[in-house]
Amino acid sequence: MKIAFFSTKPYDKVFFERENETYGFQFSFYETHLGPHIVNAIENEEVVCVFVNDKLNRQVIEVLAQKGIKLIALRCAGFNNVDLVAAKEFGIQVCRVPAYSPEAVAEHTMAMLLTLNRKTHKAYNRVREQNFSLNGLLGFNIHQKKIGVIGTGKIGKAFIRIALGFGAEIIAYDLYPDQNLINAGVQYTSLDQLFKDSDIISLHCPLTPDNHYLINKESLAKMKDGVTIINTSRGNLIHTNDAISALKEHKIGLLGIDVYEQEEKLFFKDLSSTIIEDDTIQLLMSFPNVLVTAHQAFFTTEALTQISQRTLKSIADILSTGTTDNEVTL
Ligand code: NAD
Repeated sequence: MKIAFFSTKPYDKVFFERENETYGFQFSFYETHLGPHIVNAIENEEVVCVFVNDKLNRQVIEVLAQKGIKLIALRCAGFNNVDLVAAKEFGIQVCRVPAYSPEAVAEHTMAMLLTLNRKTHKAYNRVREQNFSLNGLLGFNIHQKKIGVIGTGKIGKAFIRIALGFGAEIIAYDLYPDQNLINAGVQYTSLDQLFKDSDIISLHCPLTPDNHYLINKESLAKMKDGVTIINTSRGNLIHTNDAISALKEHKIGLLGIDVYEQEEKLFFKDLSSTIIEDDTIQLLMSFPNVLVTAHQAFFTTEALTQISQRTLKSIADILSTGTTDNEVTL
């Protein structure tokens, strides 16, 4: 079985090659993302293994089918970047890693909240310059704050467990409320009520056509002045320009984003010697109360181990049985 990896980083090779000692698959690693510019280069491979910013639209999928690709193996949870209708039409199976250490993302979410709130990133630089003043470093207690969690699946649940440990009050919105969370004291509410009541809002739902730009001018207007918003889910859940206006109006007090709607041009790349042409991210990064991390919430040893294990297991399952528990179907 030959597998072509796209958007490959050195750490992907380390974890996948280690796991492949069990399977003996043949790997080709491409640093570039999978898109129309490279898809014709695929030869003699049966599987493409892709990540969050590889764009598998109809045009790319059609060529993949012509090249004999039978399986798109996403080494991530989200699958909003794959045209599933086209994949089905061209007879290409799709699998993903639905769960890999949800704690990795949940813990990073709390890290972003704590960094923004207690300003440890600023304190770190300040004391190195022998400035021991506390001016400008004032934070607030998370204890007894109301945290609104949108999406209470695996990551939302893990984040709620952490936040309950801080003594926060949790309100939540999900299409499918979870009885165990209700028993643990989580109160499900409508989206509007969550917007209205939350001191802190954390996004943990997948990106779907229904919730594209969930955080926009209208929903922001319903929120408390000075609300904290953390997005470790998908960039397109937030209308970035509306968020920038809300920051200017002090409607948003703190904003933490690990995902960004135009991240595919930036994230996972070292652009330190480049002029970035995306004025929106430049503006966003200039705010003192905004923290941007480059889609790193998943990035722990435990998560990368599970991603490589589960991806190769799914490929092996499909090879031997024609299906896997992790198959994505319409
Ligand atoms: P999950 O499937 O376990 O949970 C998602 C939950 O969201 C489900 O309970 C579902 O009912 C709910 N949901 C679906 N549509 C909704 C909507 N419109 N409004 C409210 N809730 C809705 O998924 P998960 O493992 O918890 O992952 C959640 C998301 O986190 C993924 O879809 C992905 O986008 C993102 N993610 C980010 C990173 C990162 O590194 N930043 C890593 C992994 C996953």
